[in-house]
Amino acid sequence: MKIQSIRAIPLYGKAYEDWPARYGELEQTRTLVEVVTDEGLTSLGSVYTSAPLVAAALELLKPLYTGASAIDPAATTEMLHQNTFWQGRGGSVTHAISGIDMALWDLLGQVTGQPIWRLLGGKYRDKIQPYASMLMVEPELMGEKLLAAKARGFRAFKMGWGPFGRHSAKKDEAIVRAAREAIGDTDYLMVDAGASDAFWGHGYKWALETAKMLKDYDVTWFEEALRPDDIDGHVELTKHSPVHIASGEVLTRRQSFLPWIERRAVDILQPDVTKVGGLTEQHRIGQYADDHNILVVPHGWNTGVGLIADLHLSAAAQNAKFVEYLTPEPYLEELFETPPTLDADGLLTIPTGPGYGVKWSAEGIRRLSRG
Ligand SMILES: [Mg+2]
Repeated sequence: MKIQSIRAIPLYGKAYEDWPARYGELEQTRTLVEVVTDEGLTSLGSVYTSAPLVAAALELLKPLYTGASAIDPAATTEMLHQNTFWQGRGGSVTHAISGIDMALWDLLGQVTGQPIWRLLGGKYRDKIQPYASMLMVEPELMGEKLLAAKARGFRAFKMGWGPFGRHSAKKDEAIVRAAREAIGDTDYLMVDAGASDAFWGHGYKWALETAKMLKDYDVTWFEEALRPDDIDGHVELTKHSPVHIASGEVLTRRQSFLPWIERRAVDILQPDVTKVGGLTEQHRIGQYADDHNILVVPHGWNTGVGLIADLHLSAAAQNAKFVEYLTPEPYLEELFETPPTLDADGLLTIPTGPGYGVKWSAEGIRRLSRG
């Protein structure tokens, strides 16, 4: 089975109501890719990049992927990586290959009648804990926001960005205290400083002092506490922080992860399947991290396709415990014919059907892509 064509499908709208628009007219960072094969089978991948960049990357890759095997995901996408070393490696080209790789794993699943997790080697779990991911707000509003997610069945919560680290240590602690008081003592709480934001203003000492404060509120991990390229700072922080340190959502290509894993720069690694190179690349990163006792928490939540890829990766990884999940969220719920639901313990069930094991909503995709 060969790849016949691939097209980019932009998804419009905003994930967070309170997220500031940065790109004007181009405020669109979620793009699906649709792979069509010579035998008529099709599949979707997800790319966290604006559609014009994805479309340009697909144009560049076209002579390479046209006629290539649609059911040899690792071999086909490695061929794409190796032939584009000089063309935006690690950037939009790698992001676009991520989406293609995801679709090819699904096609292999459709052809063999097997779920992706089995093709990756088999599953370690049937269910996994999703955490409700949300932006931080002022302390007096934080509790209400968390309780709305708790009412939807979540038992784990991550709050980040917003005012955290942007005003004072006092305000940071007030937000975390309000959050812990709202959700109670038994649910998981994670904090994301969002230091990959533009012009992040803190360094190692702020991160260490803040980590000590977070320990008092039983925070499970502290994410992006330092700028995402500061590997030496992360090594120090991971060594001395009383709470686990997480990072890696902006890194791409498995080669970039090697020093982070080998130097144990984090306790928790967060590759994003929609950017890193797809399921193939992320599975390799995850296994290497496992051999170094590092937990992997996938970051592909930005569309429903990314979430499902994360569920398959997490099923096939010994070192998985959580997946990021944003809800209610149009890019997630509206893409499914039947959106995933949480069980009584707040867990998501890993799909068991062929490929992704879910049905996409053509109507939802049409609506989000504006036709
Ligand atoms: Mg983050």
